[in-house]
Amino acid sequence: MVFKTALSALVFALPAVLSLSIKREADALVPEKCAFLLPIRDDLLDNLFTNECGDAAHGALRLIFHDAIGISPTVGGGGADGSILIFNETELAFPANDGLDDVLDDVGPFFLKFADVLSPGDFVQFAGALSLAACPGAPQVEFLLGRPPPIAASPPNLVPEPFDSATTISDRMGSVGFTPDDVVALLSSHSIAGADTVDPTLQGVPFDSTPSVFDTNIFIDVLLTGTLFPGTAGNQGELMTAIEGTLRLQSDSEIARDARTACTWQSFVTDQAAMAANFGAQVARLAVLGQDVNKLIDCSSVIPKPPSLIDIPEFPPGQTIADIDQSCDLVKFPNLKTAPGPPLVVPAIPQADSGDDDS
Ligand code: CA
Ligand code: CA
Repeated sequence: MVFKTALSALVFALPAVLSLSIKREADALVPEKCAFLLPIRDDLLDNLFTNECGDAAHGALRLIFHDAIGISPTVGGGGADGSILIFNETELAFPANDGLDDVLDDVGPFFLKFADVLSPGDFVQFAGALSLAACPGAPQVEFLLGRPPPIAASPPNLVPEPFDSATTISDRMGSVGFTPDDVVALLSSHSIAGADTVDPTLQGVPFDSTPSVFDTNIFIDVLLTGTLFPGTAGNQGELMTAIEGTLRLQSDSEIARDARTACTWQSFVTDQAAMAANFGAQVARLAVLGQDVNKLIDCSSVIPKPPSLIDIPEFPPGQTIADIDQSCDLVKFPNLKTAPGPPLVVPAIPQADSGDDDS
């Protein structure tokens, strides 16, 4: 099977992220009302994520967004309420939620195991916050406890699509309080993510060259002039990428080059700390969409601090500043060094074993 080869290649390429047990905070610091979360946390880190910034962690992170964004001032919805778990028959049929069936296959048994003590909305946000703990460079994000059960499925058409224009995405996200710059910060998540269904012939195709590391490569890679498709051409929402084995979303490409957001996008290339801090702040806002924050309890101390990262932004082997689509009008793209070696062929992200290989 193809992913066995990919796994060994990934370990070879990224020795720094070999899985180690994630360092947990001293449990004495955890408020009494949050203490019941500790064994749940350990179960999710050890058995759902297997202490890796891999497919299961990426799926849990994606689920945060797809659950929370299901809210609108005009058509309603409960936001970060866990509706995507409880009303999955409705929400998984939305085209923008394509591929989330595999994620629910992975997290579902853990959700059911703890459903008597953790509400669906809390579970989604808790698992998502924990998923970052395995990813070097990711921020330690807030976790608030106490979301009531969801009342109804999200209305349709609220989750942005990869083929939506920058303006469409900006309008949708703006309707629930996120500026275009906030959206760029949220797109940092694509540093640790991949596509399972955009190209129907490929699963686990990363969006940047390092899907196990929350580095700034996504902001470099997406601005390189596209020259190839990792699989087939002509897929909706996909544009040509510059690095073999990676997939470029049309929406990422547009937002990276849009006059409103290009300078913010470029600013993250050499500022991993700002990327992580801004992303963490926007995830915290996402996690309480539709919720009354005053009724939630701060259990953030249960979330482990992710491994730190010394980020050295570089152009991928064989590429230089000449390959960058300069998009920020105010500041030149930084003239980075080029990483040594032959052109990259980024391996697919090994898929979590959910016993379900369809999509
Ligand atoms: Ca929801
Ligand atoms: Ca990355």
